[in-house]
Amino acid sequence: MTKRTESANATPLQKGRSLAQEKAVSDALFLSIGEGALVTDAKGKVSRINNCALELLGFSSPEDAIGKWYPSIVVAEDEAGTRIPNINRPITEVFLTGKTVFKKLYYRRQDQTRIAVALTVSPVLLDGIPIGAIEVFRDITEEVRLERAKDEFISLASHQLRTPATGVKQYAGMLLEGYAGKLREMQRAMVETIYESNERQITIINDLLRVAQVDAGQIQLIKLPSPLIPLLTDVLNEQAHKFKARAQTVVFDPPPEEIWAPIDVKHIRMVLENIIDNASKYTPPNKNVYLALKKTPRYVLIDITDEGVGIPKEALALIFNKFTRLDNPLSTEVGGTGLGLYWVKKIIDLHGAHIHVRSRPGKGSTFTIRLPQSL
Ligand code: ADP
Repeated sequence: MTKRTESANATPLQKGRSLAQEKAVSDALFLSIGEGALVTDAKGKVSRINNCALELLGFSSPEDAIGKWYPSIVVAEDEAGTRIPNINRPITEVFLTGKTVFKKLYYRRQDQTRIAVALTVSPVLLDGIPIGAIEVFRDITEEVRLERAKDEFISLASHQLRTPATGVKQYAGMLLEGYAGKLREMQRAMVETIYESNERQITIINDLLRVAQVDAGQIQLIKLPSPLIPLLTDVLNEQAHKFKARAQTVVFDPPPEEIWAPIDVKHIRMVLENIIDNASKYTPPNKNVYLALKKTPRYVLIDITDEGVGIPKEALALIFNKFTRLDNPLSTEVGGTGLGLYWVKKIIDLHGAHIHVRSRPGKGSTFTIRLPQSL
């Protein structure tokens, strides 16, 4: 109240001074941001740029950028080096949606070298209408290089580990089959333990290899219209022994007519195996797992529902992250790498599909896969 009276009574000179003061503060703020920052007008022309942005983009002075259309002076590329069309640039998305966008992409500097950047573009809104955008970005080239080196190491190490692990499996299998003579009861029990531990090792190695492959962008999907009832039935039959061992029942009432979707069968099969395996793993004995397959006008929906330990609300968003294992009453007993759902989500994304989880701790969870009906 007092303030308003003061400013209402301010002389034009005072008003001018306070405006100049505000501008000085905002200039200092803008210039001192330790990350690249630039502002564009409503047409995408650069109106301000700080020193850090000039340096990162390889401009020698602000005049190289000011007044120019941003997408034309800074070329953006994806990981493979393909130029990102202007329509897909974050700044366009911001103008179209009026929402803040976070992205990781590559910028081609003025000397044609490439840097990886993490950026945030926010609209500058006046009465809810975008009158410009502000972009803040930082150089993550070193982070990306380290991440890649780590992925390559995991891939190499797991390839190297697979050969000896498969050798152990082969020889333990031969011992069990009596190739080296009949085993005494105690010997058999020991070799069986070796065999089972080795199987778990191989599962971990395969999980690591699969993740390394998907992270390196090496997955090529072959999507073909495929019937889903036989696929689901097959996966259930294959996993029947696990359900039996845990005294669980799987209920699947297939729809009266076949349902088709354009999928890469090999990969979607592994996705289903993973989720169904989890449904069994994280459900106590004597409980049920339900499968449902249905069609909507645009999508095919697959629900996998269990009566298991459930997932707390705050952890729902985490379970698709790499190496996430939640602490639940069954997690130690059943073991796992925390890589399954990470891989699942990547494959679902590559299909242009969607995966969603609903859960009630202590009651159970439902994983829903939504596949598009057409390519
Ligand atoms: P893991 O190898 O540990 O099973 P996943 O990536 O498949 O790894 O799953 C990540 C974590 O999500 C699991 O460790 C578990 O805590 C939780 N989770 C996955 N599926 C279920 C489920 N059906 N019910 C309860 N928790 C689950």
